[in-house]
Amino acid sequence: MNTDKRTRQKARLSIPPDILMTACIIASALLFSAGLFLSVTFWFKTYLFAACVILAGYDILFDALIKLVKRRSFDKNILIFVAAVGAFFIGRAPEGAAVVLIFRFGALLQDKLVGRLRNAIEGFLDSRAEIDNNASTTSAFDDSTVSRILKIIEEADNKKSKKEKTITRFARIFTLGVIAIAVILGVFVPLIGGLDAHSWMNIAFGLLVVSVPSALAISVPLTYFSGFGRASKQGVLYKSADVVDKVAHTTSVIFDKTGILTQGRYQVSEINANEISDERLLMLASYAELHSNHPIARAIVAAAEFELDYDKITDFREIKGKGTEVNIGGITVSAGNAMLMEELGLTPDISQAEASVVYIAVNGKYAGRILLTDTVRPDAKKAVKELHAIGIDRIAIFTGDRKEAAVDVASQLGIREFYAEYLPEEKVKRLKGLTDMQLPGDKLIFIGDGISDAPVLKAADVGAAMGGIGSDDAIEAADMVIMTDEPSKIVMAIKLARDTNRIVIQNILMAIAMKGIILLFILIGIAPMWLAVLSEGVVSIAAVYNAARAFGFSSREIWKVLLKKAPKDGEGLENETV
Ligand code: ADP
Ligand code: MG
Repeated sequence: MNTDKRTRQKARLSIPPDILMTACIIASALLFSAGLFLSVTFWFKTYLFAACVILAGYDILFDALIKLVKRRSFDKNILIFVAAVGAFFIGRAPEGAAVVLIFRFGALLQDKLVGRLRNAIEGFLDSRAEIDNNASTTSAFDDSTVSRILKIIEEADNKKSKKEKTITRFARIFTLGVIAIAVILGVFVPLIGGLDAHSWMNIAFGLLVVSVPSALAISVPLTYFSGFGRASKQGVLYKSADVVDKVAHTTSVIFDKTGILTQGRYQVSEINANEISDERLLMLASYAELHSNHPIARAIVAAAEFELDYDKITDFREIKGKGTEVNIGGITVSAGNAMLMEELGLTPDISQAEASVVYIAVNGKYAGRILLTDTVRPDAKKAVKELHAIGIDRIAIFTGDRKEAAVDVASQLGIREFYAEYLPEEKVKRLKGLTDMQLPGDKLIFIGDGISDAPVLKAADVGAAMGGIGSDDAIEAADMVIMTDEPSKIVMAIKLARDTNRIVIQNILMAIAMKGIILLFILIGIAPMWLAVLSEGVVSIAAVYNAARAFGFSSREIWKVLLKKAPKDGEGLENETV
């Protein structure tokens, strides 16, 4: 935001920029009243108004001129000056001065309000982190996590959204168009028509003032920023404004099974050994799984109640989506699913149980199977129910696990669509297929664990990594991060994205509608040019107010923040739930 730039430039002076600017505006306002109310000569009044323009606007004029000369880039603010100076020439000095004064005051107020809102939101997140740290000993949010969260929000804030880019383009065309009309009305019409040149020029200068859009520019990124802040305090991080827009248009949600819908904590429920003892089968399987991080592997190792000797293992190999293979003191043990057994040319004794199964082969000979069950997260039930309630039509499960285990979870959750026994690359393919089936504009979210599911996260319209704020890989691969182990957070994330999106659109429409009305009024000559700047200022403030709503502040809190300061710790956020 250009506040930073201004602040940086002013930093060379020792007077705080805010105070200097406020002082200039007050002085300018005093001169303006003097010009209006003192009974002095016409010329003296004109000097007073000119001084008023210089005091209020010298710094933006200076900035605009530097930009023009050094970077050959055109700063729209300069149009305000052209209009003001023009007003002086057609004998409307008070109006010219009023335009600059109101414009400057509006800009100052806007900067202040935006600054206060941003501080309030950042302060809130910080204080929330402190509260969390002081409470639960093992806090989910330690200092490095908090700085990580703030960094993600900051990066998301720095990425220009599609909407913002479109608006910038629109604003440029609008400005040029209005300038063109102003030139025609102010220069050509009086030349040809010999009409009352002053009135036409008055309209033309009014148009120049209208052509400078400022409310639009601030309101969009600010609203998204509020949305990021609100989501993060409920445990969800979006990586950009475009992600928020996509999430708002979600129609399908696909969940990875293990660790997302289920706890990811398997328990051995049955052992069926072939020709060897169950204990020996479990021991061999444990050796095979000792080096694997798969939740199934962890469960088998945990079930083994004997000491395992790491030195005995040589040649550990993990076969992605299938299982593992090791050499234990000369014996080759393979542990994995039916696909792995097929690869070995074995026909295992297929279990019909609604459970996950690991088949074990020793030296290429089938040796038995271990059945495992995982528990569905109670929160997953809530997630499915609430997703239906907010109108998400398609909910599906992806898993590399076998069909029977998927059926078990799907039936417990009331999900009808599932894709089981999928290798990681098959998940990606299927996901693309499902995405292609969507109507244009509809979006699909995939929720996975961010480590083994990284390729699928990347392939989805929106990839959501759950429980993964600690891992860079997850953050890298995902478009959004659910920081807790609650799949139901996706419901909140969708509602919140819809909310943010709605407020962004409201702000855009409000700004455009106001511009349109004022443009019309100026064109038919019933609005003075200062009204154009005033209305822009009012719309900017309304937009900031609206953006604050996107953070979840109540009206009372918004006024507190905007008028004075951020709510203190513990205070605030009356409507915490979306
Ligand atoms: P998911 O996380 O959806 O289960 P994975 O690709 O991680 O998908 O695993 C797919 C399947 O491959 C598992 O359900 C399991 O049957 C088998 N598998 C993967 N790794 C192992 C392992 N270390 N031990 C036994 N089976 C495994
Ligand atoms: Mg997995």
